[in-house]
Amino acid sequence: MKAVVSSPKRTVDLRAINRQSVLRCLYFSGPMSRQELSNRTTLSAATITNVIADLLRDEFVFESGQVESDGGRPRTILAVNSRYGCFVGVDVGETHIQLDLFDLTLQRQRTVRQMAVPQQMTPDEYADQISAGLNELVPPGDPVSGSILGMGIGLPGVVERGEEQQVSSPLWNWRSVPFGDMLKARIPLPIHLDNGAKAMTLAETWFGAGRGKKDIITVLVGTGIGSGIVSGGELFRGPTNSAGEFGHTLILLNGRRCRCGNWGCLEAYAGAPGIITTLREIAPHSPLLETNRSRDQVSIIDNIVRGAAEHNPEALQTLQLTTNYLAASFTNLVNLFNPELIVLGGWVGLQIGQAILPALRESLNRHALPLSRSATQIEMSQLGQTAVCMGAACLPLEQFLSGKTSSRHKRKVKA
Ligand SMILES: [Zn+2]
Repeated sequence: MKAVVSSPKRTVDLRAINRQSVLRCLYFSGPMSRQELSNRTTLSAATITNVIADLLRDEFVFESGQVESDGGRPRTILAVNSRYGCFVGVDVGETHIQLDLFDLTLQRQRTVRQMAVPQQMTPDEYADQISAGLNELVPPGDPVSGSILGMGIGLPGVVERGEEQQVSSPLWNWRSVPFGDMLKARIPLPIHLDNGAKAMTLAETWFGAGRGKKDIITVLVGTGIGSGIVSGGELFRGPTNSAGEFGHTLILLNGRRCRCGNWGCLEAYAGAPGIITTLREIAPHSPLLETNRSRDQVSIIDNIVRGAAEHNPEALQTLQLTTNYLAASFTNLVNLFNPELIVLGGWVGLQIGQAILPALRESLNRHALPLSRSATQIEMSQLGQTAVCMGAACLPLEQFLSGKTSSRHKRKVKA
């Protein structure tokens, strides 16, 4: 017997949908005239006139100038009002916490970077440090404080998509920690959490190397390794929002012990501690392993990159092996997903990228399927150290562009 499935009646708010598409068009492709908006959105001239009247009244957009038109009256150019409000993006990494303040067009205005000692910090201490960081970034009473539309936070863990925004991170021994609620108890702003690599992928897709592309993969190499996979223009999340855990894909059965509890994960070879283990296996007493101890991982990776530039054989061999591990895994990505672009970022990715990229590309030429490889570019992140913060700020930006930013937080910035 056939089941009869009736679709629920939905109220479609056409006005809101039109407003969204005009705002997005102006945001990502503007400034432009009403006529160009009409051409690009395929909305009628009358609809554009009405929507723009609303957006001008709400001060989301402003008239930025005029251009000559063919034979007719000059056309008014419209632009998004970058002073309407701002966003805070936070990168909670395994060696640092960085907070950036962005204007509406995601131009960075201020930054605060603090070192973190993850193994010694509880979720409450993390929430306290983020709250203290926000006070340093935007001190109470600062004129900007009333205009923050929202705060996005990228974390090295899995963020469940429910209201509570629970975070699980086996590396920190966090199991469904209600971190979103813990932050809301301290910070009176709309809070949005996501995995750091997924956040970085949003930034690369909207503002970085992936702009205009529909099939891209962002790989974040730091202490751990994560990725964000965009297929057909959509970020691939999976039912538990844990897709893209690239660092825990296997490259060697029964290989090195990984922090996730398994053996042979990519992260155990090509994350910062993995690279340092490789160097230690090659040369247990290498002077490259000596640091001032304040920022161990960062200094040793820096020593290796500088050593390789000076033709130190231990450093060169360490980077060669790291390139091999990444090349094997990138080959799997190319063959599985057929991406147009793979973006390499994260603090280790940025440090070693220039040194390994030619050999990485060459190795992919040899090992990936030729047809897939021919369509894939491998590039460094253009957004550098701010990529995760910027991606985190994309979370409240997405809400703003969807018209979901609450009126409580719609206050104009005083120029
Ligand atoms: Zn693992």
